[in-house]
Amino acid sequence: MPSSAARAQLSQEPQARLRAARLRVTPARLAVLEALAADDHLDAEHVAQAVRAKLGAVATQTVYDALATLSSRGLIGQIEPAGHNRLFEARTADNHHHVICRVCRRIEDVDCAVGHTPCLTASDNHGFLIDQAEVTYWGLCPDCRTTDQTTTQPTDQTATRTTQTTDIRKKEPPS
Ligand SMILES: [Zn+2]
Ligand SMILES: [Zn+2]
Repeated sequence: MPSSAARAQLSQEPQARLRAARLRVTPARLAVLEALAADDHLDAEHVAQAVRAKLGAVATQTVYDALATLSSRGLIGQIEPAGHNRLFEARTADNHHHVICRVCRRIEDVDCAVGHTPCLTASDNHGFLIDQAEVTYWGLCPDCRTTDQTTTQPTDQTATRTTQTTDIRKKEPPS
């Protein structure tokens, strides 16, 4: 769930955000911002699909150029979790983190643990001036936790079946 600050950021008109970043307002840039405001953590292919759904035929390179420009100006963020394509998001510069399901790959935002960057103090900064800590929490989402519990049931059923077989054998010898 995006925080109220993130919602305020997202609700700002895309045109205003482009002008504030001194970028020319183009249909492709607007469509990219709108796609990411509607649906977070999209890879370039899904952003391109959303842009085409809005504008019709748009060259893939145009979408990639828009993504690169918006990223370089900090209007969109990007993450590249292990096993995922590079994903783009509208929420930027608030040092938020991500929780990712290992099974279905669902991704949700997690507000910064401390509220400012970097939210973790390095045990040894090696003399670096650290300005960001990128945290990814990995685990199982609620849906996959439920599925996980279901898949453990066959073990119980096998145990029941074994008991039944034993009972039948006991009755087998005719008396
Ligand atoms: Zn899941
Ligand atoms: Zn995010």
